[in-house]
This record gives sequence, structure tokens and C-alpha cells, in this order.
Amino acid sequence: MPGGDGLLSFDLHPDDKGPKDACGVFGVWAPGEEVAKLTYFGLYALQHRGQESAGIAVSNGQQVLVYKDMGLVSQVFDEAILESLVGHLAVGHCRYSTTGASVWANAQPTFRSTSAGGLALAHNGNLTNSADLLELAAKRAAEADLAESPADRGSTNDTGLITRLLATYPDRPLLDAAQAVCAELRGAFSLVFMDENTLYAARDPQGIRPLVIGRLGAGWVVASENAALDIVGAEFVREVEPGELVALDGDGVRTRRFAPAEPKGCLFEFVYLSRPDTRISGRSVHETRVEVGRRLARDFPVEADLVIPVPESATPGAIGYAEESGIPYGHGLVKNSYVGRTFIQPSQTLRQLGIRLKYNPLREVIEGKRLVMVDDSIVRGNTQRALVRMLREAGASEVHVRIASPPVKWPCFYGIDFASPKELIAAEQTVDEICASIGADSIGFISLESLTEASSVPADRLCRACFDGSYPVPIPEAASRHGKFQLEVVGPAAGN
Ligand code: SF4
Repeated sequence: MPGGDGLLSFDLHPDDKGPKDACGVFGVWAPGEEVAKLTYFGLYALQHRGQESAGIAVSNGQQVLVYKDMGLVSQVFDEAILESLVGHLAVGHCRYSTTGASVWANAQPTFRSTSAGGLALAHNGNLTNSADLLELAAKRAAEADLAESPADRGSTNDTGLITRLLATYPDRPLLDAAQAVCAELRGAFSLVFMDENTLYAARDPQGIRPLVIGRLGAGWVVASENAALDIVGAEFVREVEPGELVALDGDGVRTRRFAPAEPKGCLFEFVYLSRPDTRISGRSVHETRVEVGRRLARDFPVEADLVIPVPESATPGAIGYAEESGIPYGHGLVKNSYVGRTFIQPSQTLRQLGIRLKYNPLREVIEGKRLVMVDDSIVRGNTQRALVRMLREAGASEVHVRIASPPVKWPCFYGIDFASPKELIAAEQTVDEICASIGADSIGFISLESLTEASSVPADRLCRACFDGSYPVPIPEAASRHGKFQLEVVGPAAGN
């Protein structure tokens, strides 16, 4: 059954919109296993990375079949659908839109029928040269006399573009075509794709988004985060290297390098995007967040009675702050995790409740207390302003805000949708002005140096552009001007 109007009601409170991740990807090659169900549970573990649409492609060795729709993994699939997806090889995806609008045609995996067979592809990240690639795909298709695929119609995401480019090499094995195409892509891409028999994975030369390989008995699994390997019982083998392309099947792992590695992993994965039980570059995300909390306590001490997190991503930071400061830790806010993930649009009365639809204060815990409220990041400031007001109304005598990331001042072009640059509160205001704007008694942001040290990843191997404006991959004009809708804008002109 189609999911309502296809729009999830994230905007219960239009001003309360945190950073949105690009996507989660998952792939499995495992003859004898129920690969569609493994992929379903893998996507479930990655649901936090994308909640607008979900899809699974499966192959039985003869043909590739794709099922996808708008909504959460649990809304798109049921037992009967999963039972019908039979095979030994599968690729799955859960999406939040970065390039391309949130519509069915942009859901993934994207599918393409080529002269060599079927091709299904899932992508986490965001390309920065989509406009150039669109022209290149059209030119190559014309030169090779390739007809437009029905899959191209209505699709305006950069992932469909990668599939189109792969199809412009009909005479080459997919591994060779992918090696050539990956070298032409710029920006962030962690790819998982398949033909009838083989699972492939590739990661951009900077390795901006994570991608890991796991072993499942005699089979293979590839996933955005190792937490998704754990949930299906796969054992972590290694990360896909930046600039590496791998093929996985009964012949084992075949690896190709399409570009030299220039590692620049996303620092924000540690702050907010990844699950706490994930490891990045060998470092636990949970441990990094706890360490950031300890550092916040040392750098921004305050006399207070209770440390509370804004659940859930700030919970480890609050634990670290409490541990280091000796101030007790407690739950002052209860989060209604699922309210923003429904197809039911709230009524006007409900909308007026705003942030209360998502968080409810525990009056008994906070009344009369001087609070330290730890949050992971501030994007627009509206959420923190509403929370500070709510805590005061519930009886808090003081609210001191501590933020587990530096001020977000620049937009991300590599797969995270923060807000437009004009809406980023830290781009326009000083720290003192932000404190006054959200109505806190004091505020403290972890410094970029301290956050970097807490991650244990050397600064020159990280992307930190949303904090310092230094973009590791150049941003062309079309991407910086039109952002996620660049292919809607340039598509028609380029003959899409
Ligand atoms: S700009 Fe920020 S969110 Fe985007 S990849 Fe770089 S560190 Fe991550």
C-alpha cells in the first residue's frame, strides 16, 4: 500500500529541523541465506541515516528485482513483500534527500537494464559535479546510441546519474566500467551496487562517508556502519578504503583502486550522524562523545545540580560532563522518538504545541534545579530556545547549555542537509548573541581542536568544513547555488 502522500511529517514544528543525514546503504552476498530479510534488518539498523524512502534490490542469479517506496523501512516492507524477494544477493537503501527532491522516482536502489543484464545501485553521500556528469552522461549515451531508460524519467538525484554513466560502457565488465566512472565522480559517495551475480562497493577518494565490509559465514556484507553488521551477525573485516572499489562473490574480494586515497572523513559523523555503537577509523563513536562531554566540563565548568542530555545523541556527552564535573546525571527530557516519522500531518492545534510533540520535561526531576543541558549541535537555535523555555516553565532555576560540537557556520555539500546558510544561527551571531537568543544562563561550545582530539583522527584526515569553511573537495557554482535541487534546475537544460 503506498505511503500516504509520500511525505513524512518531519516538520511538525517547521522551525525544529535538525541536521539530516544523506542515507544508509547495505549489501549482502550470501547464497543459502534469506538476503532480503538480512537487508531489511540491516536497513533497520541504519534507519537513523535516512527516513524518507527505503528499497531493496535482490538477484536470484537470473534477474534483478527492485522494491522501493516512500517511508520508513518498516512502512515500506512487510513479511509478504520480503518473502517475494528471493535470491542470494541483495542491496538496500534508506534515503534522506540530498541531491534530488523527496519523491518516489528518486528512491533507491536505482535500477538500470543494460546489455549485460540488470544493475541496481545505492548511494550515501552527495556528488558535487552532478551538473557536469549530467552533460557527460547525455553525450556518452548519444555517442553510443543508447536509448533513454524509463528509469531516467522523473529521477533528479545524483545516484540515477551514476547508474546512467555505468550503463554508457555496455561492452565492459561492470568492474571495469565502475573503475572508469568512479574516477569521474567528485564529492562524497559510498556506493553499494550489484548485477545478477556480484556485490560491489566503492568509496570516494576522501572517504567522507563511512563504508565497511563484513564476513557472514561464507558470504559478504557491506554497510554504512559496523552497527549494521553486528545486527545481522556479520563480523567486521575492514573499511572500504578511500578511492577503492571492491567486488565480492564466490571468488572472494577483488579490489581495484580508482584514485589515490586522500582521507577526509566527516567529523560530524562522530558528533551526531553515526550510531554510538559504530566505530569510525577504529574509534568508538560513543567513547568520542563521552570524551567530548568530559572536555566540555573542563572547558566550561559551572555550579549546577543536574546534568541532562537532549536525547538521544547528546546522552554520551552528558554522561561525560557529569562524570568529569561530579554533578549528578539525570533524565530531564523525555523524547517521543517516533512522532516526526509518521505520514499523518498534525492539525493546527497540534502544530502549536511545537517542540512539545517531540520532548516532554520531567517536572519532578528538574523543578528548582540549576541545570546543565547538553546538546550535540546548534543549527538554527529554535530547538534549543524552545527547550530552554520549556525547562524554565517546568521549574528549572537556571539552564546552562553545553554543545558537543563547535558552531556550525557553513553548509555541507557532501551529504548532510543542515539548513540554508542564512538560517545557520552561528553564521550570523556571536556565541554571546546565541546565548541571549536562546535565553540560556550560559553557553559553551567544544572547540574544533578539542573535538578533533577527542575523535583521535588527525586533523588533516578529516573534513571539518561546516565548522571552519575549509572544503576538501571544491564546490562548483551549480552545487553551491542550487544545493540539493541542482538537477531539477540544470536537468531540463541539459536535456534530462
Ligand atoms: S561539511 Fe561537516 S557535515 Fe559535511 S562532510 Fe564536512 S564535516 Fe561532515
